[in-house]
Amino acid sequence: METKSFSEQNLHFNGFPFHLIRSLRRTLELRVTEEGVFVRAPKMMPEARIFKFIQEKSSWIDRASARLRFRRSVLEKKSYEDKETFFVQGQARTLHINREAGKSGWPRLIPLDNGWQVNLRTGMPEPPEFYVRQMLVRWYQRLAADVLPRNVRMRAEVIGVPTPKVVVKTHKRLWGSCNYRTHILNLNWQLMAFPQKVIDYVIIHELCHLRHANHSKCFWAEVEKYCPSYRQERLWLKAQSHQYILP
Ligand SMILES: [Zn+2]
Repeated sequence: METKSFSEQNLHFNGFPFHLIRSLRRTLELRVTEEGVFVRAPKMMPEARIFKFIQEKSSWIDRASARLRFRRSVLEKKSYEDKETFFVQGQARTLHINREAGKSGWPRLIPLDNGWQVNLRTGMPEPPEFYVRQMLVRWYQRLAADVLPRNVRMRAEVIGVPTPKVVVKTHKRLWGSCNYRTHILNLNWQLMAFPQKVIDYVIIHELCHLRHANHSKCFWAEVEKYCPSYRQERLWLKAQSHQYILP
């Protein structure tokens, strides 16, 4: 059918802006994202009922918005300058920037035991941070492409599912996804910054989706079997991951 099954409105409640999306659903849903506050409601629900719902949830909205603001401020504080800290499998590593004035050649990143050394010459067309980030991202991507498929194979054997094809992807805040039809497991290279048990949890979570394509009780019971600390790792992702990802 071509008829539009949802409508979108920008509203205010007590001076506070939100997007209202009405569709053929039965329940109210509230989401706070970087793009704003979103309320999903059934098509015919009276506005007063929706406002009452927002009123009831106002302190939750405040807390969620404060958390987002805090995350953004952490990321904005981080830069690609000398002595900045980045993480590899949960361990802090230091970036050393060496400015070779007048020397020719493209910037180079040299991995060290406790971090990286970046050689930059002056007078490049882009600001130095641009090259540092680019090289660091590539370094993480290569590490992910090397390490993650091996981890997936190991875990798949333990769980007893066929090993899926692993694709390393760039996402802002999606750590992994799994398509049980195509048998492709997408993993975010930023996982390489996280502690190993968190990486393991994400992989186990996605592999368990090959058995249960949902988040049902059965699914979580399966996850718990292979990752008994999964609640802790989920909490870590929610509360700590923003400090580990690359800005
Ligand atoms: Zn899932």
